[in-house]
Amino acid sequence: MKQGKYIQFLGTGGGDYHAPGSVNEAAYKDDPKYMEALRLGGKNIRSSASLFIAPDIIVDFGEGARARLQEYGIPERAVRHLLITHGHYDHFFPAAIFPFAAALDHPLRVYGNTMIRDAIAFAQTYRWDNTRKRHILNSRPVTNLRVKTVVLEKPFRLSSLRVTPVLAAHFINRQMDKEYTILEQQALNYIIERDGKTLFYGLDCSYTLPKTLEFMARYRFDIMILDASYCDLAVDPTGTGHHNYAMLAEDLAEYRGANMIKPETILVYSHLSTSTMVPEHEVAAERLAKQGITLAYDGLTLNF
Ligand SMILES: [Zn+2]
Ligand SMILES: [Zn+2]
Repeated sequence: MKQGKYIQFLGTGGGDYHAPGSVNEAAYKDDPKYMEALRLGGKNIRSSASLFIAPDIIVDFGEGARARLQEYGIPERAVRHLLITHGHYDHFFPAAIFPFAAALDHPLRVYGNTMIRDAIAFAQTYRWDNTRKRHILNSRPVTNLRVKTVVLEKPFRLSSLRVTPVLAAHFINRQMDKEYTILEQQALNYIIERDGKTLFYGLDCSYTLPKTLEFMARYRFDIMILDASYCDLAVDPTGTGHHNYAMLAEDLAEYRGANMIKPETILVYSHLSTSTMVPEHEVAAERLAKQGITLAYDGLTLNF
């Protein structure tokens, strides 16, 4: 494990992340781009979106997080805190989090919204019996999990960080052509401060919500990690809770207009959907670099 203050991407994929043995292996076996990424290997292979903040914090924890820790030489015992953005399976996977926590000799502190709190309580109480097709009591709940509920726009201390949750435009059920909008779950982005530096963790978000933008405008960011799920695919992702490059350009213009971006701000695109990603990483990264944007890949490390 590298010493000092840094962040390292444990995963940069979308919901169609790569993870040996995961549900996605079967689901995407006929998807040409997903399979092409596997064939190309290297930076084209993306685990579920997750970020290690040295020395002791992980943001979101999916199926592949443990394998990435091992790959990058981060000892599991170093991890004391999990910060969860929302309950989609590529960010919050209790069946991966529980055995991870159980293997630690200290409490694992999990921070998330009330749905994350309730989901953990439920999974601690029940487990699925696939033979009987019903929930049964979980006879062996994990004892060293501590859950803390976070509140929108209320900063809290998390180890060496000051963290402020803001509302993301995500997990919203809406009919494209109707006045129907149901926030199914509060999905969070995080403003993360340490030693005078500020990072925005903005994955799983569509166009920034007006009140969130107003709140964010209090800050000038050193690093912004933004959702680029659909890359330059010519689809309309506005209803999906994600961005493509064109939508991100609009958001960046708003951030610049609000003076949130400095000339030296590091802009990182992540949460990249493997099955829509065109073309391969090196080509896409080179093109984005000309616009001053870093295309994330698993293992990417930045000072913070
Ligand atoms: Zn996601
Ligand atoms: Zn999501």
